[in-house]
Amino acid sequence: MKKIIYLDNAATTKLCEEAKAEMEPYLSEEYGNASTGYELGEAAKAAITKARIRIADAIKASPDEIFFTSCGSEADNWAIKGIAGANKERGKHIITSQIEHHAVLNSCQYLSDLGYEVTYMKVDEQGRVDPYMLESAISESTTLISIMYANNEIGTIEPITEIGKIARKKGVFFHTDAVQAVGQIPIDVRQLPIDMLSASAHKFHGPKGVGFLYVKKGVKIPSFIHGGGQEQGKRAGTENVAGVVGMGKALELSCRNMQINQKYQRYLRNRLVEGIMREVDDVIYNGHDRYRLPGNVNISIKGIDAGTLLIMLDEVGICASAGSACNANAVAVSHVIEAIGIPDEYKKGTLRFSIGADNTEEEIDYTVQKLKEFVALLRSF
Ligand code: PLP
Repeated sequence: MKKIIYLDNAATTKLCEEAKAEMEPYLSEEYGNASTGYELGEAAKAAITKARIRIADAIKASPDEIFFTSCGSEADNWAIKGIAGANKERGKHIITSQIEHHAVLNSCQYLSDLGYEVTYMKVDEQGRVDPYMLESAISESTTLISIMYANNEIGTIEPITEIGKIARKKGVFFHTDAVQAVGQIPIDVRQLPIDMLSASAHKFHGPKGVGFLYVKKGVKIPSFIHGGGQEQGKRAGTENVAGVVGMGKALELSCRNMQINQKYQRYLRNRLVEGIMREVDDVIYNGHDRYRLPGNVNISIKGIDAGTLLIMLDEVGICASAGSACNANAVAVSHVIEAIGIPDEYKKGTLRFSIGADNTEEEIDYTVQKLKEFVALLRSF
């Protein structure tokens, strides 16, 4: 079998063994419904409670501020549509950024179709929103700001504390899509002026199909899925017990190993960037030098079609991405690359490598070597 060099951890991560082991009983003998009163159901309920505590601890929240969802997209949809809808008498203006994930952008588009006004903040060439510009975009009718914690394509970490302080000062709700940040960098909601935060388990070595929305105590968000009384009556549906358990374990481990993983990911990231810059001409390293996710490398290579290059890399087992995973089949230039103003001759040659703690120096060096060979080959045509 072809050896896989997995450098697409921003698209998804491998389920960790410890999470898988904790999930297994809930996929077999512990199959009870957590809403029932007998022992089998009580066991499922206890497992959910334990997972909720672990998740709350990981971001320094209280367990009753954690609401389980089916994914990060659901958490984003709920926060944005929920708060916008509940506050429409007060105003119908929302502020977000041009570089959000489509879960946020398309939720905003949906509201815009319903008559809401949406302001899409520009970002600078490193992908950061300017808090002062954002402050001046707030009007009497603004009810919600949704700015991502860290960008999924270029890895830029946004000035969340500054934006949150402005939101507080102006009495506007603040949601952050932290799908790429949770489990990667420290997050302490007690220190952050945020009202809601979205996360997704499959980005931190948990299972797919489960995420959560943090909702700060006192923030009134309406139910998103109507039905039974699960999740404090706010998100109906029989719980994904195994998923929630796996998410709890995976996040606990990610936080426990965070410092060491971050250091190692940064080391490999620098090795990859230095290697590419040394071996390949005419490359732009996108994103921010300092405010950046530890495993993210995003580059634009002059005169190259990233789609073709990705196929060549795949042939030798290297998994990378041309933009966000959701756009992988559309080789159109991503909205993020457009927003940071990459020159035309470079845009289509944009690649994202997202490094995980399982990657090795050999894999990084091999990737540099193959990239060098393939770019030279493509340029020779
Ligand atoms: N937000 C960001 C920043 C993401 O990167 C993703 C997934 O790539 C999502 C939201 C959606 O998460 P999920 O795949 O769990 O729906």
